[in-house]
Amino acid sequence: MRAAVLHETGQDKLEVLDDVEAVGFGPGKVRVRVRATGLCHSDLSAMNGVLPQPAPFVPGHEGAGEVTEVGEGVTHVKPGDRVVVCWLPACGACPSCKRGQTELCLAGFMNAGTPNFKRPGGDVFGFAGTGTFAEEVVVAAGCAVPIPDDVPFDIAALIGCGVTTGLGAALNTADVQAGSSVAVIGCGGVGISAIQGARLKGAAEIVAVDPVASRREAALAFGATKAVSPDELADARQSVTAGEGFDYVFEVVGRSATARTAYDQTRRGGTLVVVGAGAMDDFLQLNMFELFFDEKRILPSMYGGGDVLSSYERTIALWRAGRIDLEGLITHRVPLAGINEALDQMRSGTALRTCIEI
Ligand SMILES: [Zn+2]
Ligand SMILES: [Zn+2]
Repeated sequence: MRAAVLHETGQDKLEVLDDVEAVGFGPGKVRVRVRATGLCHSDLSAMNGVLPQPAPFVPGHEGAGEVTEVGEGVTHVKPGDRVVVCWLPACGACPSCKRGQTELCLAGFMNAGTPNFKRPGGDVFGFAGTGTFAEEVVVAAGCAVPIPDDVPFDIAALIGCGVTTGLGAALNTADVQAGSSVAVIGCGGVGISAIQGARLKGAAEIVAVDPVASRREAALAFGATKAVSPDELADARQSVTAGEGFDYVFEVVGRSATARTAYDQTRRGGTLVVVGAGAMDDFLQLNMFELFFDEKRILPSMYGGGDVLSSYERTIALWRAGRIDLEGLITHRVPLAGINEALDQMRSGTALRTCIEI
């Protein structure tokens, strides 16, 4: 079958090959025919080495498709079912799962060193244990989350990562209060989802911050009340909050420099929500005086910061009711053969989400 493979970490192009096989099927596993997958910024971060990932590998962790085969003991899905591929499955038994914080379950990472694919030349890994830039994946049962048939594959794919992450940051982690002021730094698919979440919660002011003009325009269409470039943020803080700083600032980039800016733009006693996925050698510096004296809350948000399955269900309910726009997030569509075009669109900042139709 066909899959897009990164041969070595640091390369910037994928090769679409037709000699790849999804491996590992057996008890407790599910085989999925992938129909749509989104390109998430974390895929680029795994390719360039910011996020740890053994190579060669098939990127892609935001996918949806149809179940074609289930292994022994799998009862929650059957062939023909429509599923979201969840890269962070909940085991249901660990302390985090029992607390309802399934986003902290590490069970899915236990197999991180196990290849998901093979080629005549050798083993190939799947990013984050999935690897959805492929026609077919074999995943642990918990990674195949059934969804209703009225959710199109392209929309379902977005729920697999970006939308869950951004919406959850606003709804679960920050629990944005009605009437508050919000700034969102970084307005790709995840940032726009955080904006939609803040709007749903009734934020009075939502300032979108992004260097790319088309993303600022999109942010306004999705509910931001103001959209500025990074060098206009100080002025926006002055006009929106009378200089005090924002009640909530979302960092959706994953760099210490933007996290520091986000901290500085948060009002005393306000909340900085760290959503971006950054590198292990990139350190955020805070001094011990400001840390206690300004009483700013720093809340990291991993995959939406809440129970993953109920987050999916909530997103589908909000989408069905027309309360969030998911179709509008898909600004580009390419077939798997056009994957490198999709990577360029992501790097240039012209895409909110590119849907890769497989
Ligand atoms: Zn668990
Ligand atoms: Zn992602």
